[in-house]
Amino acid sequence: MRTIGLLGGMSWESSALYYRLLNEAVRDRLGGLHSARCVLLSVDFAEIERLQVAGDWDRAGELLAADARSVQAAGADLVLLCTNTMHQVADALTAVLDVPLLHIGDVTAAAVRACGLTRVGLLGTAFTMERPFLVDRLAGHGLEVVVPGVADRALVHRVIYDELCLGVVREESRAAVGEVVGRLAAEGAEGVVLGCTELELLLGPGDVGLPLFPTTQLHVDAAVEAALA
Ligand code: GLU
Repeated sequence: MRTIGLLGGMSWESSALYYRLLNEAVRDRLGGLHSARCVLLSVDFAEIERLQVAGDWDRAGELLAADARSVQAAGADLVLLCTNTMHQVADALTAVLDVPLLHIGDVTAAAVRACGLTRVGLLGTAFTMERPFLVDRLAGHGLEVVVPGVADRALVHRVIYDELCLGVVREESRAAVGEVVGRLAAEGAEGVVLGCTELELLLGPGDVGLPLFPTTQLHVDAAVEAALA
């Protein structure tokens, strides 16, 4: 089994989910007491979030590139950047890594295409919904991406940073984000990418009427596939 490197802490609530899902996936594949061979470097998210708000993506890219190198030095054979938003700086990481960075957009697009869908809604932070790095990555795989309107983007962004990243899961927010999904469906979305690694703590398959593409689970599945190949 290859060693999976996780660059996480963005937020740690979703990194904890990554860790659990990775180990469950390896247990399910190999049975018995098997578990995932992995290393995790977990950052202080407040530092990264400050740079996001300041728009200082270059500095964030420098910091995360240095951390990605540390993950590699700790023995990782492949690296997962455990956040959609910070894939804004994915190129800064691939530039310094000798091992592959498994891009969250690529694994998500492959899952959507495997279901035969072409038009998907995208939920995530405002950065992810409004900046082109993920939309373009998905479009590069032949997908059409529908992004919520301005008020819905603000709502989802607030739920992510003020609730989910702090471990708070509220029924009202589940209903409100479910209504956003309904509006995406009305605009022709055939499925919805949960393009934030905390969103699957809030929404599951039974909560909405459309197929969901949970990026943490999809990222984990692709990593385990690669690690066991
Ligand atoms: N984990 C989230 C994501 O997947 C948001 C936190 C962050 O800004 O990194 O985008």
